[in-house]
Amino acid sequence: MSNKVPTIIRSAILFLILLFPNVYACFMASDLASPLKALAYLLVVAVGACIPMLFLRRKVYFLVLGALTMWCAPIELASLYLNQNPATTTFVGLIYATNAHEAAGVLGAAWPLAVLWLAVWVLYFILAARQPNEWMMNRRIGLWAAGIGLPVLALAAILFFSVYARRLYHLQRPREVASLATELVLLKGHKIYPYNIYLNSVRIAEERRERKRMEQALQPFRFGISAPADTEPECYILIIGEAARSTHFGLNGYARNTTPRLKQRTNLVSYPHHYAQAGTTEQSLPHMLSRVPVTRHEDVWTEKSLPEAFQEAGFSTTWLTNQARILCTERVKHAVDQTYETGKDMSVTNNYDGLLLAPLQQCLSEGAKKQFIVLHTMGSHWRYDSRYTPEYEQFTPALGADFQLSMIRPENRERLVNAYDNTICYTDRFIDSVCALAAQQHIPAVVLYMADHGENLYDDERNLVLHGNYSASRWLFHVPLIVWYSDEYAVLHPEKIAQLHAHAGYYDNSSVLFASLLDAAGLSYINDTASNAAMRTRSIFSSDYRAPDTLFVLTAEGACVALEER
Ligand SMILES: [Zn+2]
Repeated sequence: MSNKVPTIIRSAILFLILLFPNVYACFMASDLASPLKALAYLLVVAVGACIPMLFLRRKVYFLVLGALTMWCAPIELASLYLNQNPATTTFVGLIYATNAHEAAGVLGAAWPLAVLWLAVWVLYFILAARQPNEWMMNRRIGLWAAGIGLPVLALAAILFFSVYARRLYHLQRPREVASLATELVLLKGHKIYPYNIYLNSVRIAEERRERKRMEQALQPFRFGISAPADTEPECYILIIGEAARSTHFGLNGYARNTTPRLKQRTNLVSYPHHYAQAGTTEQSLPHMLSRVPVTRHEDVWTEKSLPEAFQEAGFSTTWLTNQARILCTERVKHAVDQTYETGKDMSVTNNYDGLLLAPLQQCLSEGAKKQFIVLHTMGSHWRYDSRYTPEYEQFTPALGADFQLSMIRPENRERLVNAYDNTICYTDRFIDSVCALAAQQHIPAVVLYMADHGENLYDDERNLVLHGNYSASRWLFHVPLIVWYSDEYAVLHPEKIAQLHAHAGYYDNSSVLFASLLDAAGLSYINDTASNAAMRTRSIFSSDYRAPDTLFVLTAEGACVALEER
Protein backbone atom coordinates (compact mmCIF):
# COMPACT_ATOMS: atom_id res chain seq x y z
CA MET A 1 0.00 0.00 0.00
CA SER A 2 1.62 3.30 -1.07
CA ASN A 3 1.77 6.60 0.77
CA LYS A 4 -0.47 8.06 -1.95
CA VAL A 5 -3.50 6.35 -0.46
CA PRO A 6 -5.31 9.25 1.15
CA THR A 7 -4.97 9.46 4.94
CA ILE A 8 -8.71 9.38 5.31
CA ILE A 9 -9.05 5.99 3.54
CA ARG A 10 -6.18 4.52 5.55
CA SER A 11 -7.81 5.79 8.74
CA ALA A 12 -11.15 4.29 7.72
CA ILE A 13 -9.53 0.88 7.14
CA LEU A 14 -7.70 1.10 10.48
CA PHE A 15 -10.90 2.00 12.35
CA LEU A 16 -12.71 -0.87 10.68
CA ILE A 17 -10.03 -3.30 11.90
CA LEU A 18 -9.90 -1.74 15.40
CA LEU A 19 -13.65 -1.76 15.90
CA PHE A 20 -14.40 -4.99 14.03
CA PRO A 21 -15.10 -6.95 17.27
CA ASN A 22 -17.58 -4.22 18.32
CA VAL A 23 -19.38 -4.33 14.96
CA TYR A 24 -19.39 -8.15 15.06
CA ALA A 25 -20.91 -7.95 18.58
CA CYS A 26 -23.91 -6.02 17.18
CA PHE A 27 -24.73 -9.03 14.99
CA MET A 28 -23.77 -11.81 17.41
CA ALA A 29 -24.36 -10.72 21.02
CA SER A 30 -27.76 -11.78 22.33
CA ASP A 31 -27.70 -8.71 24.60
CA LEU A 32 -27.59 -6.39 21.59
CA ALA A 33 -30.46 -8.00 19.70
CA SER A 34 -32.53 -4.79 19.58
CA PRO A 35 -31.34 -2.01 17.20
CA LEU A 36 -31.69 0.59 19.99
CA LYS A 37 -29.33 -1.32 22.29
CA ALA A 38 -26.85 -1.89 19.45
CA LEU A 39 -26.94 1.85 18.68
CA ALA A 40 -26.35 2.81 22.33
CA TYR A 41 -23.49 0.29 22.47
CA LEU A 42 -21.85 1.72 19.32
CA LEU A 43 -22.28 5.28 20.67
CA VAL A 44 -20.39 4.39 23.87
CA VAL A 45 -17.71 2.60 21.81
CA ALA A 46 -17.35 5.63 19.48
CA VAL A 47 -17.03 8.04 22.42
CA GLY A 48 -14.43 5.72 23.99
CA ALA A 49 -12.47 5.59 20.72
CA CYS A 50 -12.51 9.42 20.36
CA ILE A 51 -11.13 10.29 23.80
CA PRO A 52 -7.51 9.19 23.09
CA MET A 53 -7.57 11.50 20.01
CA LEU A 54 -7.38 14.43 22.44
CA PHE A 55 -3.98 13.28 23.62
CA LEU A 56 -2.44 11.30 20.73
CA ARG A 57 -1.53 12.36 17.20
CA ARG A 58 -2.87 10.25 14.33
CA LYS A 59 0.09 7.90 13.83
CA VAL A 60 0.72 7.35 17.55
CA TYR A 61 -3.03 6.97 18.13
CA PHE A 62 -3.35 4.04 15.73
CA LEU A 63 -0.09 2.42 16.85
CA VAL A 64 -1.02 2.64 20.54
CA LEU A 65 -4.65 1.51 20.09
CA GLY A 66 -3.47 -1.31 17.82
CA ALA A 67 -0.95 -2.50 20.41
CA LEU A 68 -3.61 -2.33 23.14
CA THR A 69 -6.34 -4.20 21.27
CA MET A 70 -4.99 -6.40 18.48
CA TRP A 71 -3.81 -9.12 20.90
CA CYS A 72 -7.18 -9.39 22.64
CA ALA A 73 -9.46 -9.11 19.58
CA PRO A 74 -9.32 -12.91 18.92
CA ILE A 75 -10.50 -13.54 22.51
CA GLU A 76 -13.54 -11.28 22.02
CA LEU A 77 -14.30 -12.71 18.56
CA ALA A 78 -14.07 -16.29 19.87
CA SER A 79 -16.42 -15.50 22.75
CA LEU A 80 -18.94 -13.83 20.43
CA TYR A 81 -18.81 -16.80 18.07
CA LEU A 82 -19.00 -19.52 20.74
CA ASN A 83 -21.21 -17.89 23.39
CA GLN A 84 -23.02 -15.13 21.52
CA ASN A 85 -21.73 -12.82 24.24
CA PRO A 86 -18.79 -10.49 24.87
CA ALA A 87 -15.94 -12.18 26.76
CA THR A 88 -16.88 -12.66 30.44
CA THR A 89 -14.56 -13.18 33.42
CA THR A 90 -15.19 -16.92 33.12
CA PHE A 91 -14.28 -16.99 29.42
CA VAL A 92 -11.16 -14.82 29.84
CA GLY A 93 -10.17 -16.96 32.84
CA LEU A 94 -10.52 -20.09 30.72
CA ILE A 95 -8.27 -18.57 28.02
CA TYR A 96 -5.59 -17.74 30.61
CA ALA A 97 -5.88 -21.22 32.10
CA THR A 98 -5.29 -22.83 28.69
CA ASN A 99 -1.86 -24.44 28.57
CA ALA A 100 0.48 -24.43 25.56
CA HIS A 101 -0.56 -27.94 24.51
CA GLU A 102 -4.29 -27.10 24.50
CA ALA A 103 -3.64 -23.76 22.74
CA ALA A 104 -1.67 -25.56 20.04
CA GLY A 105 -4.61 -27.94 19.59
CA VAL A 106 -7.07 -25.06 19.13
CA LEU A 107 -4.72 -23.18 16.79
CA GLY A 108 -4.18 -26.35 14.80
CA ALA A 109 -7.94 -26.77 14.31
CA ALA A 110 -8.51 -23.11 13.41
CA TRP A 111 -5.27 -22.39 11.51
CA PRO A 112 -6.89 -20.60 8.51
CA LEU A 113 -8.41 -18.09 10.96
CA ALA A 114 -5.10 -17.68 12.79
CA VAL A 115 -3.28 -17.00 9.47
CA LEU A 116 -6.00 -14.53 8.42
CA TRP A 117 -5.74 -12.66 11.71
CA LEU A 118 -1.96 -12.51 11.43
CA ALA A 119 -2.31 -11.00 7.92
CA VAL A 120 -4.80 -8.40 9.21
CA TRP A 121 -2.43 -7.65 12.08
CA VAL A 122 0.54 -7.03 9.71
CA LEU A 123 -1.62 -4.90 7.36
CA TYR A 124 -2.84 -2.84 10.33
CA PHE A 125 0.62 -1.94 11.60
CA ILE A 126 1.99 -1.17 8.08
CA LEU A 127 -0.93 1.22 7.49
CA ALA A 128 -0.65 2.75 10.99
CA ALA A 129 3.09 3.38 10.60
CA ARG A 130 2.41 5.30 7.37
CA GLN A 131 -0.11 7.66 8.95
CA PRO A 132 1.00 11.31 9.22
CA ASN A 133 1.71 12.48 12.74
CA GLU A 134 -0.95 15.19 12.96
CA TRP A 135 -3.74 15.99 15.40
CA MET A 136 -7.02 14.35 14.38
CA MET A 137 -9.36 16.96 15.84
CA ASN A 138 -9.47 20.51 17.12
CA ARG A 139 -8.26 19.82 20.66
CA ARG A 140 -9.83 22.88 22.25
CA ILE A 141 -13.30 21.98 20.95
CA GLY A 142 -12.64 18.31 21.75
CA LEU A 143 -11.68 19.00 25.36
CA TRP A 144 -14.76 21.18 25.87
CA ALA A 145 -17.00 18.50 24.32
CA ALA A 146 -15.46 15.78 26.48
CA GLY A 147 -15.60 17.94 29.63
CA ILE A 148 -19.32 18.54 29.19
CA GLY A 149 -20.35 15.43 27.22
CA LEU A 150 -18.80 12.72 29.39
CA PRO A 151 -20.41 13.78 32.71
CA VAL A 152 -23.75 14.23 30.90
CA LEU A 153 -23.49 10.74 29.37
CA ALA A 154 -22.50 9.17 32.72
CA LEU A 155 -25.35 10.96 34.52
CA ALA A 156 -27.87 9.89 31.85
CA ALA A 157 -26.73 6.26 32.19
CA ILE A 158 -27.00 6.37 36.01
CA LEU A 159 -30.46 7.97 35.84
CA PHE A 160 -31.57 5.33 33.33
CA PHE A 161 -30.40 2.48 35.56
CA SER A 162 -31.91 4.12 38.65
CA VAL A 163 -35.31 3.16 37.24
CA TYR A 164 -34.23 -0.52 37.19
CA ALA A 165 -32.66 -0.25 40.64
CA ARG A 166 -35.90 1.12 42.09
CA ARG A 167 -38.12 -1.37 40.34
CA LEU A 168 -36.08 -4.56 40.82
CA TYR A 169 -34.94 -4.10 44.38
CA HIS A 170 -37.55 -1.70 45.75
CA LEU A 171 -34.94 0.73 46.97
CA GLN A 172 -36.25 4.02 48.28
CA ARG A 173 -33.26 5.90 49.69
CA PRO A 174 -31.64 7.99 46.91
CA ARG A 175 -28.13 7.05 48.04
CA GLU A 176 -28.91 3.29 47.74
CA VAL A 177 -30.57 3.80 44.34
CA ALA A 178 -27.59 5.83 43.04
CA SER A 179 -25.08 3.30 44.38
CA LEU A 180 -26.82 0.31 42.76
CA ALA A 181 -27.38 2.24 39.51
CA THR A 182 -23.66 3.10 39.36
CA GLU A 183 -22.86 -0.56 39.98
CA LEU A 184 -25.18 -1.56 37.09
CA VAL A 185 -23.54 1.01 34.75
CA LEU A 186 -20.08 -0.36 35.65
CA LEU A 187 -21.38 -3.90 35.08
CA LYS A 188 -22.41 -2.89 31.56
CA GLY A 189 -18.88 -1.51 31.11
CA HIS A 190 -17.65 -5.04 31.78
CA LYS A 191 -19.33 -6.11 28.55
CA ILE A 192 -17.80 -3.50 26.23
CA TYR A 193 -14.75 -4.57 24.22
CA PRO A 194 -11.84 -3.94 24.75
CA TYR A 195 -12.49 -2.74 28.34
CA ASN A 196 -14.04 -6.13 29.19
CA ILE A 197 -10.80 -7.96 28.41
CA TYR A 198 -8.74 -5.58 30.58
CA LEU A 199 -11.25 -5.36 33.46
CA ASN A 200 -11.66 -9.13 33.53
CA SER A 201 -7.88 -9.66 33.36
CA VAL A 202 -7.42 -7.40 36.40
CA ARG A 203 -10.21 -9.23 38.22
CA ILE A 204 -8.63 -12.62 37.45
CA ALA A 205 -5.19 -11.41 38.60
CA GLU A 206 -6.67 -10.17 41.93
CA GLU A 207 -8.58 -13.43 42.37
CA ARG A 208 -5.42 -15.44 41.64
CA ARG A 209 -3.47 -13.48 44.25
CA GLU A 210 -6.18 -14.05 46.87
CA ARG A 211 -6.47 -17.73 45.94
CA LYS A 212 -2.72 -18.23 46.34
CA ARG A 213 -2.89 -16.55 49.76
CA MET A 214 -5.72 -18.89 50.81
CA GLU A 215 -3.90 -21.94 49.45
CA GLN A 216 -0.84 -21.05 51.46
CA ALA A 217 -2.83 -20.51 54.66
CA LEU A 218 -4.71 -23.82 54.23
CA GLN A 219 -1.72 -25.86 53.06
CA PRO A 220 -0.96 -27.51 56.45
CA PHE A 221 -4.66 -28.23 57.19
CA ARG A 222 -5.71 -31.89 57.50
CA PHE A 223 -9.12 -33.31 58.40
CA GLY A 224 -7.49 -36.49 59.66
CA ILE A 225 -9.83 -38.75 57.67
CA SER A 226 -9.12 -42.46 57.32
CA ALA A 227 -8.84 -44.13 53.93
CA PRO A 228 -11.61 -46.68 53.18
CA ALA A 229 -10.84 -50.28 54.12
CA ASP A 230 -11.29 -51.60 50.56
CA THR A 231 -10.44 -50.43 47.04
CA GLU A 232 -13.74 -51.40 45.37
CA PRO A 233 -15.08 -48.69 43.01
CA GLU A 234 -17.81 -46.41 44.36
CA CYS A 235 -19.04 -42.96 43.47
CA TYR A 236 -20.49 -39.94 45.31
CA ILE A 237 -21.85 -37.05 43.27
CA LEU A 238 -22.86 -33.65 44.65
CA ILE A 239 -25.00 -31.52 42.32
CA ILE A 240 -25.03 -27.88 43.40
CA GLY A 241 -28.27 -26.36 42.12
CA GLU A 242 -28.83 -22.64 41.50
CA ALA A 243 -31.72 -20.42 42.64
CA ALA A 244 -34.15 -23.38 42.91
CA ARG A 245 -37.28 -23.16 45.07
CA SER A 246 -38.25 -26.29 46.94
CA THR A 247 -41.94 -25.44 46.58
CA HIS A 248 -41.72 -25.41 42.75
CA PHE A 249 -40.72 -29.07 42.57
CA GLY A 250 -43.69 -31.30 41.69
CA LEU A 251 -41.98 -33.90 43.83
CA ASN A 252 -42.52 -31.65 46.87
CA GLY A 253 -46.23 -31.12 46.23
CA TYR A 254 -46.21 -28.23 43.71
CA ALA A 255 -49.49 -28.13 41.76
CA ARG A 256 -47.60 -28.26 38.45
CA ASN A 257 -45.83 -31.48 37.56
CA THR A 258 -42.39 -29.91 37.09
CA THR A 259 -40.53 -33.09 38.07
CA PRO A 260 -42.10 -35.94 36.06
CA ARG A 261 -38.83 -37.87 35.72
CA LEU A 262 -37.74 -37.68 39.35
CA LYS A 263 -41.26 -38.74 40.42
CA GLN A 264 -40.79 -41.92 38.38
CA ARG A 265 -37.27 -42.65 39.58
CA THR A 266 -36.83 -45.29 42.26
CA ASN A 267 -34.27 -45.14 45.12
CA LEU A 268 -34.96 -41.42 45.49
CA VAL A 269 -35.71 -39.41 48.64
CA SER A 270 -36.78 -35.75 48.65
CA TYR A 271 -36.43 -33.48 51.67
CA PRO A 272 -39.12 -30.81 51.33
CA HIS A 273 -38.19 -28.82 54.46
CA HIS A 274 -34.55 -27.91 53.88
CA TYR A 275 -33.02 -24.43 53.73
CA ALA A 276 -29.96 -22.66 52.38
CA GLN A 277 -27.70 -20.93 54.88
CA ALA A 278 -27.44 -17.73 52.79
CA GLY A 279 -29.23 -15.96 49.93
CA THR A 280 -26.43 -15.52 47.38
CA THR A 281 -24.07 -17.93 45.67
CA GLU A 282 -20.99 -16.17 47.11
CA GLN A 283 -22.27 -16.42 50.69
CA SER A 284 -23.93 -19.82 50.49
CA LEU A 285 -21.35 -21.97 48.68
CA PRO A 286 -18.51 -21.71 51.24
CA HIS A 287 -20.89 -23.16 53.85
CA MET A 288 -22.31 -25.85 51.53
CA LEU A 289 -18.80 -27.09 50.90
CA SER A 290 -17.57 -26.77 54.49
CA ARG A 291 -18.33 -28.47 57.79
CA VAL A 292 -18.42 -24.97 59.35
CA PRO A 293 -22.05 -23.77 59.65
CA VAL A 294 -23.14 -20.10 59.43
CA THR A 295 -23.27 -19.92 63.22
CA ARG A 296 -19.45 -19.93 63.02
CA HIS A 297 -19.33 -17.91 59.80
CA GLU A 298 -16.02 -16.21 60.69
CA ASP A 299 -14.28 -19.64 60.68
CA VAL A 300 -15.47 -20.77 57.24
CA TRP A 301 -12.14 -20.00 55.52
CA THR A 302 -10.04 -21.77 58.17
CA GLU A 303 -10.77 -25.29 56.88
CA LYS A 304 -10.52 -27.11 53.58
CA SER A 305 -13.63 -28.21 51.66
CA LEU A 306 -15.74 -31.33 51.19
CA PRO A 307 -14.00 -32.47 47.94
CA GLU A 308 -10.65 -32.10 49.72
CA ALA A 309 -11.91 -34.29 52.60
CA PHE A 310 -12.66 -37.03 50.03
CA GLN A 311 -9.29 -36.40 48.40
CA GLU A 312 -7.59 -36.91 51.79
CA ALA A 313 -9.36 -40.28 52.03
CA GLY A 314 -7.85 -41.33 48.69
CA PHE A 315 -10.84 -40.66 46.41
CA SER A 316 -10.32 -39.30 42.91
CA THR A 317 -11.97 -35.85 42.98
CA THR A 318 -13.50 -33.97 40.05
CA TRP A 319 -15.14 -30.55 39.70
CA LEU A 320 -17.39 -30.04 36.64
CA THR A 321 -18.80 -26.54 36.29
CA ASN A 322 -21.15 -24.52 34.16
CA GLN A 323 -21.00 -21.56 36.56
CA ALA A 324 -19.40 -18.15 36.90
CA ARG A 325 -16.09 -17.80 38.73
CA ILE A 326 -16.16 -17.06 42.43
CA LEU A 327 -13.20 -17.14 44.80
CA CYS A 328 -14.46 -20.02 46.95
CA THR A 329 -14.92 -22.39 44.02
CA GLU A 330 -11.75 -21.22 42.24
CA ARG A 331 -9.67 -22.46 45.16
CA VAL A 332 -11.49 -25.81 45.30
CA LYS A 333 -11.24 -26.20 41.50
CA HIS A 334 -7.47 -25.88 41.81
CA ALA A 335 -7.32 -28.30 44.74
CA VAL A 336 -9.22 -31.25 43.17
CA ASP A 337 -7.64 -33.85 40.89
CA GLN A 338 -9.42 -32.75 37.72
CA THR A 339 -11.63 -29.88 36.58
CA TYR A 340 -13.85 -29.32 33.56
CA GLU A 341 -15.35 -25.91 32.78
CA THR A 342 -17.87 -25.11 30.05
CA GLY A 343 -16.40 -21.56 30.07
CA LYS A 344 -19.83 -19.98 30.30
CA ASP A 345 -21.63 -18.03 33.03
CA MET A 346 -24.98 -16.45 33.81
CA SER A 347 -24.83 -13.78 31.12
CA VAL A 348 -24.42 -16.38 28.39
CA THR A 349 -27.63 -17.56 26.74
CA ASN A 350 -26.66 -21.06 25.61
CA ASN A 351 -25.08 -22.49 28.74
CA TYR A 352 -27.43 -25.39 29.37
CA ASP A 353 -26.44 -27.62 32.29
CA GLY A 354 -26.78 -30.61 29.95
CA LEU A 355 -23.32 -29.63 28.66
CA LEU A 356 -21.95 -31.23 31.85
CA LEU A 357 -23.35 -34.69 31.08
CA ALA A 358 -20.77 -35.73 28.47
CA PRO A 359 -17.76 -34.86 30.70
CA LEU A 360 -19.54 -36.58 33.61
CA GLN A 361 -19.98 -39.72 31.52
CA GLN A 362 -16.32 -39.53 30.50
CA CYS A 363 -15.31 -39.19 34.13
CA LEU A 364 -17.49 -42.12 35.26
CA SER A 365 -16.29 -44.32 32.42
CA GLU A 366 -12.75 -44.08 33.79
CA GLY A 367 -14.31 -46.41 36.38
CA ALA A 368 -12.58 -48.89 38.69
CA LYS A 369 -11.85 -46.35 41.39
CA LYS A 370 -13.41 -44.42 44.22
CA GLN A 371 -14.71 -41.10 42.95
CA PHE A 372 -16.16 -37.90 44.35
CA ILE A 373 -17.63 -35.57 41.74
CA VAL A 374 -19.16 -32.09 42.06
CA LEU A 375 -21.43 -30.70 39.34
CA HIS A 376 -21.86 -26.94 39.74
CA THR A 377 -24.91 -26.01 37.66
CA MET A 378 -26.56 -22.82 36.38
CA GLY A 379 -30.01 -24.25 37.31
CA SER A 380 -32.63 -21.52 37.57
CA HIS A 381 -30.47 -18.41 37.57
CA TRP A 382 -31.95 -15.39 35.79
CA ARG A 383 -32.44 -15.12 32.85
CA TYR A 384 -34.74 -18.12 33.07
CA ASP A 385 -35.42 -18.75 29.37
CA SER A 386 -31.65 -19.05 28.77
CA ARG A 387 -31.50 -22.06 31.10
CA TYR A 388 -33.62 -24.53 29.13
CA THR A 389 -33.79 -25.79 25.56
CA PRO A 390 -37.01 -25.04 23.60
CA GLU A 391 -38.59 -28.46 24.22
CA TYR A 392 -38.75 -27.65 27.96
CA GLU A 393 -40.94 -24.60 27.39
CA GLN A 394 -43.92 -26.43 28.89
CA PHE A 395 -45.55 -23.50 30.64
CA THR A 396 -46.48 -20.53 28.48
CA PRO A 397 -46.53 -17.62 27.95
CA ALA A 398 -42.91 -17.58 29.15
CA LEU A 399 -40.49 -14.69 28.68
CA GLY A 400 -40.13 -14.68 24.90
CA ALA A 401 -37.61 -12.82 22.76
CA ASP A 402 -39.24 -9.43 23.45
CA PHE A 403 -38.81 -9.72 27.23
CA GLN A 404 -36.47 -7.15 28.74
CA LEU A 405 -35.19 -6.33 32.23
CA SER A 406 -37.60 -3.39 32.38
CA MET A 407 -40.48 -5.88 32.10
CA ILE A 408 -39.64 -7.53 35.45
CA ARG A 409 -42.74 -6.19 37.18
CA PRO A 410 -45.50 -7.72 39.31
CA GLU A 411 -47.96 -7.52 36.40
CA ASN A 412 -45.72 -9.95 34.45
CA ARG A 413 -45.54 -12.45 37.31
CA GLU A 414 -47.31 -15.16 35.30
CA ARG A 415 -44.70 -15.04 32.53
CA LEU A 416 -41.85 -15.02 35.05
CA VAL A 417 -43.25 -17.99 36.97
CA ASN A 418 -43.92 -19.92 33.75
CA ALA A 419 -40.33 -19.45 32.58
CA TYR A 420 -39.04 -20.23 36.07
CA ASP A 421 -41.05 -23.48 36.18
CA ASN A 422 -39.63 -24.42 32.78
CA THR A 423 -36.13 -24.20 34.32
CA ILE A 424 -37.27 -26.69 37.00
CA CYS A 425 -38.53 -29.05 34.25
CA TYR A 426 -35.05 -28.86 32.71
CA THR A 427 -33.41 -29.40 36.13
CA ASP A 428 -35.66 -32.47 36.62
CA ARG A 429 -34.28 -33.93 33.41
CA PHE A 430 -30.70 -33.01 34.35
CA ILE A 431 -30.77 -34.60 37.83
CA ASP A 432 -32.50 -37.67 36.40
CA SER A 433 -29.82 -38.00 33.69
CA VAL A 434 -27.05 -37.81 36.32
CA CYS A 435 -28.77 -40.58 38.33
CA ALA A 436 -29.13 -42.66 35.14
CA LEU A 437 -25.43 -42.27 34.30
CA ALA A 438 -24.47 -43.23 37.87
CA ALA A 439 -26.84 -46.24 37.76
CA GLN A 440 -25.20 -47.49 34.54
CA GLN A 441 -21.92 -47.98 36.43
CA HIS A 442 -23.47 -50.76 38.58
CA ILE A 443 -21.40 -49.71 41.59
CA PRO A 444 -22.36 -48.32 45.01
CA ALA A 445 -23.27 -44.70 44.18
CA VAL A 446 -25.05 -41.75 45.80
CA VAL A 447 -26.21 -38.57 44.03
CA LEU A 448 -27.11 -35.62 46.26
CA TYR A 449 -28.72 -32.48 44.80
CA MET A 450 -29.18 -29.25 46.72
CA ALA A 451 -29.64 -25.66 45.52
CA ASP A 452 -27.38 -22.87 46.80
CA HIS A 453 -30.38 -20.63 47.59
CA GLY A 454 -33.94 -20.01 46.43
CA GLU A 455 -35.57 -17.16 44.52
CA ASN A 456 -38.21 -14.49 45.06
CA LEU A 457 -41.09 -14.40 42.57
CA TYR A 458 -43.42 -11.61 43.78
CA ASP A 459 -44.70 -13.90 46.53
CA ASP A 460 -46.32 -11.36 48.85
CA GLU A 461 -47.13 -7.67 49.24
CA ARG A 462 -43.43 -6.83 49.53
CA ASN A 463 -43.15 -7.62 45.81
CA LEU A 464 -39.65 -9.14 46.07
CA VAL A 465 -38.17 -10.71 42.96
CA LEU A 466 -35.00 -12.65 41.97
CA HIS A 467 -32.26 -13.03 44.59
CA GLY A 468 -29.45 -10.84 45.78
CA ASN A 469 -28.46 -8.50 48.49
CA TYR A 470 -31.67 -6.60 48.84
CA SER A 471 -34.44 -9.16 49.02
CA ALA A 472 -34.28 -11.62 51.93
CA SER A 473 -37.38 -13.77 52.43
CA ARG A 474 -38.30 -17.37 53.29
CA TRP A 475 -38.55 -18.14 49.54
CA LEU A 476 -34.94 -17.08 49.16
CA PHE A 477 -33.77 -19.79 51.57
CA HIS A 478 -36.22 -22.68 51.05
CA VAL A 479 -34.39 -25.05 48.68
CA PRO A 480 -34.77 -28.60 47.37
CA LEU A 481 -32.59 -31.41 48.73
CA ILE A 482 -32.84 -34.70 46.85
CA VAL A 483 -30.85 -37.90 47.39
CA TRP A 484 -30.64 -40.88 45.05
CA TYR A 485 -28.74 -44.14 45.66
CA SER A 486 -27.90 -47.08 43.41
CA ASP A 487 -29.23 -50.61 43.98
CA GLU A 488 -25.66 -51.70 44.71
CA TYR A 489 -25.40 -49.05 47.45
CA ALA A 490 -28.72 -50.15 48.98
CA VAL A 491 -27.57 -53.77 49.16
CA LEU A 492 -24.37 -52.76 50.96
CA HIS A 493 -25.93 -50.22 53.35
CA PRO A 494 -29.57 -51.14 54.16
CA GLU A 495 -29.35 -49.44 57.58
CA LYS A 496 -28.16 -46.12 56.07
CA ILE A 497 -30.97 -46.23 53.48
CA ALA A 498 -33.55 -46.79 56.23
CA GLN A 499 -32.24 -43.71 58.08
CA LEU A 500 -32.23 -41.66 54.86
CA HIS A 501 -35.96 -42.34 54.35
CA ALA A 502 -36.76 -41.85 58.05
CA HIS A 503 -35.31 -38.32 58.09
CA ALA A 504 -37.17 -36.92 55.06
CA GLY A 505 -39.69 -34.97 57.14
CA TYR A 506 -37.28 -32.91 59.26
CA TYR A 507 -36.59 -29.17 59.03
CA ASP A 508 -32.87 -28.63 58.42
CA ASN A 509 -30.36 -26.78 56.25
CA SER A 510 -27.33 -27.22 53.99
CA SER A 511 -25.06 -27.83 56.98
CA VAL A 512 -26.03 -31.54 56.65
CA LEU A 513 -24.16 -31.90 53.33
CA PHE A 514 -20.62 -32.35 54.60
CA ALA A 515 -21.39 -34.86 57.34
CA SER A 516 -23.97 -36.76 55.26
CA LEU A 517 -21.71 -37.36 52.24
CA LEU A 518 -18.75 -38.37 54.41
CA ASP A 519 -20.98 -40.72 56.40
CA ALA A 520 -22.59 -42.10 53.21
CA ALA A 521 -19.10 -43.11 52.05
CA GLY A 522 -18.34 -44.70 55.43
CA LEU A 523 -15.47 -42.27 56.10
CA SER A 524 -14.49 -41.24 59.62
CA TYR A 525 -11.95 -39.13 61.51
CA ILE A 526 -8.92 -41.05 62.82
CA ASN A 527 -8.85 -41.24 66.65
CA ASP A 528 -11.28 -38.33 66.95
CA THR A 529 -14.35 -39.53 68.85
CA ALA A 530 -15.83 -36.04 69.23
CA SER A 531 -15.64 -35.21 65.50
CA ASN A 532 -17.09 -38.62 64.58
CA ALA A 533 -19.98 -38.13 67.00
CA ALA A 534 -20.59 -34.61 65.61
CA MET A 535 -20.56 -35.99 62.07
CA ARG A 536 -23.16 -38.66 62.86
CA THR A 537 -25.40 -36.07 64.55
CA ARG A 538 -25.48 -34.05 61.31
CA SER A 539 -25.70 -36.98 58.87
CA ILE A 540 -29.10 -37.83 57.38
CA PHE A 541 -27.66 -41.35 56.78
CA SER A 542 -27.13 -41.92 60.53
CA SER A 543 -29.40 -43.14 63.32
CA ASP A 544 -27.75 -40.46 65.54
CA TYR A 545 -29.00 -37.63 63.26
CA ARG A 546 -30.59 -34.70 65.11
CA ALA A 547 -32.28 -31.75 63.41
CA PRO A 548 -31.47 -28.36 64.96
CA ASP A 549 -34.11 -26.49 67.00
CA THR A 550 -33.44 -23.22 65.18
CA LEU A 551 -32.22 -22.69 61.61
CA PHE A 552 -29.84 -19.82 61.00
CA VAL A 553 -29.11 -17.81 57.86
CA LEU A 554 -26.62 -15.14 56.86
CA THR A 555 -27.98 -11.71 56.05
CA ALA A 556 -26.65 -9.73 53.08
CA GLU A 557 -24.45 -7.84 55.56
CA GLY A 558 -22.94 -11.11 56.83
CA ALA A 559 -24.78 -11.26 60.17
CA CYS A 560 -26.05 -14.65 61.39
CA VAL A 561 -29.76 -14.52 62.33
CA ALA A 562 -32.58 -17.01 62.96
CA LEU A 563 -34.58 -17.86 59.81
CA GLU A 564 -37.79 -15.85 59.84
CA GLU A 565 -41.22 -17.23 59.14
CA ARG A 566 -41.55 -15.30 55.90
ZN1 LIG B 1 -26.66 -18.82 43.34
